Amino acid sequence: MPTSPRQPTRSKILVTLGPASWEEAQIEALIDAGADCFRINGSHADHAGIRRQVARVRKVALRRDRAVGILLDLQGPKIRIGKVEGQLELRDGSLLTVVMDDTLVCRDGAPRVGTTYPEMAKDVTIGDRVLFADGLLSGVVEGVDHAGPVPEVLIRMEVGGTLTSNKGLNLPGVRMSVPSMTEKDLADVVVGVEVGVDWVALSFVRTAADVMVLRDELTRLGADTPIVAKIEKPDGVDNIDEILDVAEAVMVARGDLGVEVSLEKVPVYQKHIIERASRRGRVVITATQMLDSMERNPRPTRAETTDVANAILDGTDAVMLSGETATGRYPLESVRTMDRIANEVENSVFFHRTPEERLPRLPEPTDSIIRAATLASKNGQRPFVVFTWSGASAIAVSKARLPGRIFALTPDPRVVDRLQLVWGVEAFLVPRVRSTDELIAAGEHVLLSKGLLRRGEEIVVLAGRTPHHGTTNVLKVYAIGSEP
Ligand code: PGA
Ligand code: MN
Repeated sequence: MPTSPRQPTRSKILVTLGPASWEEAQIEALIDAGADCFRINGSHADHAGIRRQVARVRKVALRRDRAVGILLDLQGPKIRIGKVEGQLELRDGSLLTVVMDDTLVCRDGAPRVGTTYPEMAKDVTIGDRVLFADGLLSGVVEGVDHAGPVPEVLIRMEVGGTLTSNKGLNLPGVRMSVPSMTEKDLADVVVGVEVGVDWVALSFVRTAADVMVLRDELTRLGADTPIVAKIEKPDGVDNIDEILDVAEAVMVARGDLGVEVSLEKVPVYQKHIIERASRRGRVVITATQMLDSMERNPRPTRAETTDVANAILDGTDAVMLSGETATGRYPLESVRTMDRIANEVENSVFFHRTPEERLPRLPEPTDSIIRAATLASKNGQRPFVVFTWSGASAIAVSKARLPGRIFALTPDPRVVDRLQLVWGVEAFLVPRVRSTDELIAAGEHVLLSKGLLRRGEEIVVLAGRTPHHGTTNVLKVYAIGSEP
């Protein structure tokens, strides 16, 4: 099939930083390869680590004159086993004791491990399933022993294997008595706000109320940082609509989701979450194992390339790399590969614009203006120039998935960085001015001087009547540089 000349890739790539990628030179190379946004994983970073990673990304972005987003991913109530000296071999049918003590070290191959979740003994009942290491090992609760100084949970292993330190532990279907925000998360948010991360992600979101706990905390800290709700429990899927009412973005967190629900449900849930988010005008990230084999090999499997492409066809804004870039052997190749796959599928005949009836409903008059703009674009042949304060109108235009480039111009540098997660949006800073006319003139200057548009090119401009309010109520179609 013939391929069209290469356009800038429109799907966004979210890259998890880790020991394989967090040196300055590597961050720079990753940006050049196509990384739009970096994820700092709260599960593995301490406060100094968060500060250091943010400082490095900001420094490189400045040097390269590139807008780059930073997402701080809070660990949430992720349950882990404690430390294991060497490794623990567990046979099928053997017994494993989980002790409600997070300092216990498993020694000499004795099947006793600690846990970061001491409430486990209260929450489980006999017969509950317990999974370890992302579901590689599994067992069933055979008993709970309250006799000793700390309670212990006895587990009969059904699928044995090897356990090493700090591996994840999941209790699918068990109602957990912990809130979504842990003490560690609260402390991490304070640091995140202080260093000005662009997004904060909340793990294991079950309800809108979970999101509101983080929202209130951010408000208390004086921040309006947008929130990514990570959907990785069945409750999160069931309550997706109320969660989308209060979160600016969601993540299809397939890693934990695939352990908390059965694996065969993941593809359908992915499509469901993306479709609900798109209809609600929210940003969506699809995450985990997208190019998993590239942690070890320089080339992905055919199934992986197809997975990335299909997530984009489903309507995801961003695709995420985790272990591939955090600890893998080929971080740079992973980003390049993802970029090429995205570019190819976006420019294929299978990539469709969103039918008008599936566009998100926005408050008036913004809703009418966005719909009129998609018509005025001549099926996206004319580029969009969107003047925006919060970024919301640029996100709304993006949801139409039209071929025309989307330039978002905003006087708020934080919005420029936030928009790095949004499909197709190229965001730039414009100076703060007094009138809409001055704003448009300043925007035209930015786009022409950067060589992004040529004088005389027909554009669709969206703006607000006064440059200080959130409403979009101006739509203009004209040749750039021709208006007084
Ligand atoms: P994690 O989240 O990598 O922080 O666990 C993503 C997922 O569970 O898929
Ligand atoms: Mn997870």
